Amino acid sequence: MLGPRCHNSLLASLLAGKRRPLISTIRLLTAALLVLAGVGLVGCASTTERGAVGGDRKQLLLISSEQMEQLSAQSYAKLQADASKQGALNSDPALTQRVRAIAARIEPQTAVFRRDAPSWKWEVNVISSDELNAFCMPGGKIVFYSGLIKQLNLSDSEIAVVMGHEITHALREHSREQVSQAIAAQTAINVGAALLGLGGDSAALTNTAYEALIATKFSRVDESEADRIGLELTARAGYDPRAGITLWQKMLKASSGSRPPEFLSTHPAEANRIQQIESLLPTVMPLYEAARRGG
Ligand SMILES: [Zn+2]
Repeated sequence: MLGPRCHNSLLASLLAGKRRPLISTIRLLTAALLVLAGVGLVGCASTTERGAVGGDRKQLLLISSEQMEQLSAQSYAKLQADASKQGALNSDPALTQRVRAIAARIEPQTAVFRRDAPSWKWEVNVISSDELNAFCMPGGKIVFYSGLIKQLNLSDSEIAVVMGHEITHALREHSREQVSQAIAAQTAINVGAALLGLGGDSAALTNTAYEALIATKFSRVDESEADRIGLELTARAGYDPRAGITLWQKMLKASSGSRPPEFLSTHPAEANRIQQIESLLPTVMPLYEAARRGG
């Protein structure tokens, strides 16, 4: 999924579909239902405000936030249950407390980008695993894998940078946008059908949700937004945004080993990533200093 494609491409693809004699009736019906379901609650808009770093790119949004959040809540519950069975859910209480304290400082700052976010049902859990990974599912469901923090020996500010980045994917609803783009391209009709409760088996839905919410490969545009907005959130929460540079240096070092970290395989480390953070420091350092002064 590359870049912003914000136009009425679902209608366009429907019209194109009518000219193709082989398109199946079910497919067309599903797409038509998606259009109906979409009336009034979807379209082309930005999920977030500008902030200081500019975070208001227009997005194609064909399904509702509520639909994504429902999938997210189900997937998150399953993830916790699986980890719990393995004794891996918050098995290091000090680490969990540390990560939750950082989240608690960042969460109120999300109001800069969207006013509804501070009152989301935020959840923060740590799973004991060697995986170098973290994510935030739609609606503020955060997971950190202990390996990321312990193996890279992350400081609180570096954890905050990762968290700000991951939270931004949720604020910007990148998963919702990606599913919308897939629906528009008619490659995710099953997802659309499942979201609308048109049947399909639940195992397939679980897989789809996993792909859409956890194993999502975000686009370069999404990653760049997550870095930018995430850095502002970090600074506003009173964490040193310069930690973004040391974080990515650690990530790059870890990726030169035999097994690249999971976090990097879903978050491609372009050479210009550290450069972008450096170029944003003049914008976000004053926010950090103001947050420090304000206590
Ligand atoms: Zn990312």
